[in-house]
Amino acid sequence: MKPSSSPADYRPKNPLVSPRFGDVATFNRLPYLPDLKGKQVDVAILGVPFDGGTSYRPGARFAPRAVREASALNRNFHPTLGVQVYDQLNVVDGGDISVNPLNLQATFKNIEKRVREVHEAGARAILVGGDHSILLPELRAIHEKFGKPILVQFDAHTDTADGAWGEKYHHGTPVRRAIEEGLLSGSDIYQIGIRGPLTAADQEEYCREQKINILDIDAFYDLKKREQFFHLIHSKASKGGKGKRRPVYLTFDVDGVDPAYAPGTGTPVVGGMTSREALESVRKLRGLSICGANVVEISPPYDHAELTSLLGAALVFEFLSLMALE
Ligand code: MN
Ligand code: MN
Repeated sequence: MKPSSSPADYRPKNPLVSPRFGDVATFNRLPYLPDLKGKQVDVAILGVPFDGGTSYRPGARFAPRAVREASALNRNFHPTLGVQVYDQLNVVDGGDISVNPLNLQATFKNIEKRVREVHEAGARAILVGGDHSILLPELRAIHEKFGKPILVQFDAHTDTADGAWGEKYHHGTPVRRAIEEGLLSGSDIYQIGIRGPLTAADQEEYCREQKINILDIDAFYDLKKREQFFHLIHSKASKGGKGKRRPVYLTFDVDGVDPAYAPGTGTPVVGGMTSREALESVRKLRGLSICGANVVEISPPYDHAELTSLLGAALVFEFLSLMALE
């Protein structure tokens, strides 16, 4: 909850003083505050301008800037969830995590370190990627702080590949690597929007072996199955023992949404959900204990009319709203 001291420090700029189209862009027009030490910040939004893990279209390195621009129209009150976000949370733009565009492992180290710093300052992190490879170092920091979280993943892909071109780490492998490193249990993973085509008929065998819960896109459009799936997530999250709720990490790969709504992405797959269905689905996570979140795979060079960046900005606001409602 918001501390009583200096409540005005962490609000988006007043648009009647500084219009939305002006000034230096920050996420949601929030204050830029890279050093969180000693500050009473609840959530830091961080950019990760890295696409060294992409296997097809690059460009996600440009997403943090594009989402900052697109977030200028994010307002403060969520009418559906009925929450005045910045009355509940002190939120800042923590800047970008320093990446090495030529070195994936060095970048992973920086991501893990930076997210850990955010946790040490008593805050949670929302990351704006970047490609989906950034999930792994983020989960390393999450695991250290919260233990094994429940993972809710929106995506066209399961991201459980074993590797490509002899490389173990890229945007198609973070979920498998996280299971191998003991950061996640397969049965705690809930994937939404998965669809094909696949490379081979047995490609999803690993997911079955690991008991990953999948609401593929056909099941997603069966409203009964969709409802049941979200019910499953809620009941799993409430089983923390001693009445405690388990932490939930939310990762949103924009290619979970149809490329007609989110064309600016690295590995598009047609036949996905709409932006509206994506927002509605995220809202179904209301009441869960969200320990962190990210939105990844936005590739502005392939975007049109800011469609995908606007979706990314809207999703960040949904994540904040969920956090504000806890
Ligand atoms: Mn994907
Ligand atoms: Mn992905």
